[in-house]
Amino acid sequence: MTLWTAAQAATATGGRAVGDWSCDGVSIDTRTIEAGDLFVALKDVRDGHDFVAQALEKGAGAALVSRVPDGVAKNAPLLIVEDVLQALERLGQAARARTQARVVAVTGSVGKTSTKEMLLAMLGDQGRTHASVASYNNHWGVPLTLARMPADTEFAVIEIGMNHPGEIAPLARMAQADVAMVTTVAAAHLEAFENLAGIAVEKASIFEGVKPGGWAVLNADIEHAAILMAKAVDCRLRDLEFGVHGHHFKLLDVQVQADTTVVQASHEGAPILFKIASPGRHFAMNGLGALAVCHALGVDMALAAQSLGRWQPYRGRGVREVIVLDPVDTHMTLALIDDSYNANPTSMAAALAVLAGAEVTHDIGRVSKGRRIAILGDMKELGTGAEALHAGLAGLETTRALDVVHCVGPLMRALYDVLPDHQRGAWTETAAELLPDLRGLLDSGDVVLVKGSLSTRLGTIVDAIRKM
Ligand code: ATP
Ligand code: MG
Repeated sequence: MTLWTAAQAATATGGRAVGDWSCDGVSIDTRTIEAGDLFVALKDVRDGHDFVAQALEKGAGAALVSRVPDGVAKNAPLLIVEDVLQALERLGQAARARTQARVVAVTGSVGKTSTKEMLLAMLGDQGRTHASVASYNNHWGVPLTLARMPADTEFAVIEIGMNHPGEIAPLARMAQADVAMVTTVAAAHLEAFENLAGIAVEKASIFEGVKPGGWAVLNADIEHAAILMAKAVDCRLRDLEFGVHGHHFKLLDVQVQADTTVVQASHEGAPILFKIASPGRHFAMNGLGALAVCHALGVDMALAAQSLGRWQPYRGRGVREVIVLDPVDTHMTLALIDDSYNANPTSMAAALAVLAGAEVTHDIGRVSKGRRIAILGDMKELGTGAEALHAGLAGLETTRALDVVHCVGPLMRALYDVLPDHQRGAWTETAAELLPDLRGLLDSGDVVLVKGSLSTRLGTIVDAIRKM
């Protein structure tokens, strides 16, 4: 289906179209571009103009550029603008303006993608739903997501993130959301902020972009929830608070079981019961917030709760899988929790709680008892208190419930040094150094959590465990 014609794109951006083309998608990357896409020549680490010829060879319908790149014919299908990023923003704004879609914007220190994917599953069962890909939540991710939104979209879920103060509000204004949700406020990207209150102020700025009469959905259990509530009032939004302290969507009980989480909550006194097909109290919180969003949108709540039950964690964010260690003796298995995409103290605590509560199995063949093992990598971008935050993990009740903790990275050395002898496993500076010894560290019946910031490359450890 046509997403942008040359004329529409020229009007939206104020640019000059060369040729009469139409595109049915928008791409910024020639590695994943599909035939018929509009290729946007953004300048990031490299200049997208260097890839225009390649994009057209791969079947791009047109390219959005600020000049005709070398090697590209003058009559090639192009949209020539002054500034490519600004043009992408304008395309996004125009895409938003032409739809009747009801838009949800999701921000928070952790849980954006998890909640966005929950909402995609829930709203997708109720109407044509468009959502951000992966964590495309920054200054190009948000306009790209909007520019990709088909005109007949009924619901859209837009993830909005930030690394620095001031980034959220302009992205939120672009999205013109009907409902904005803040999942959590926590010590992530603390480097760029004075304190947690500063992060709360930044997250609260998402409400500045909500349409008049829209809704603020916020987590009432976090420190500084009051900052979010005050901002919602300033923006004259109807607010919905969720959590144990949530006035509207109140969390009453969470039962974390081997592979499900059973949640009891209430909405203004009426009981709500829902299940999530993955263990974790943090998933229960995200799910309750997602239900509050559904209420704000006025969709069928029973169906929404049912759809939520089918949601599974997004890759690298707490996915559980069973690894068969011996193809001959298929009883030889271990359970892997892949949380290798990201880590900060809040999500680390959530993941450690899942591991501490995980059921270990007795290995029938070898009479060995499974262990709860954590392989933890550095949590990045925490600023000057980073070492203390790493060492502090040793004091968590959930950490004390573990059998072995292996540490990877210079910051995790601080944890390694304070772990009691009976829990202290290996320490290596890099993930690569742990790989040769990995098989010897794990055994049948174990449950293994792998978690660290993306740049610690713990994904390589996950891959190695999968190939064991
Ligand atoms: P990013 O800023 O990298 O885009 P995000 O906000 O999109 O992150 P997710 O990808 O959903 O967050 O989750 C990141 C990590 O946080 C995962 O380990 C996930 O399991 C955990 N997590 C998700 N929701 C919560 C929550 N409400 N509380 C604590 N941890 C959470
Ligand atoms: Mg994300």
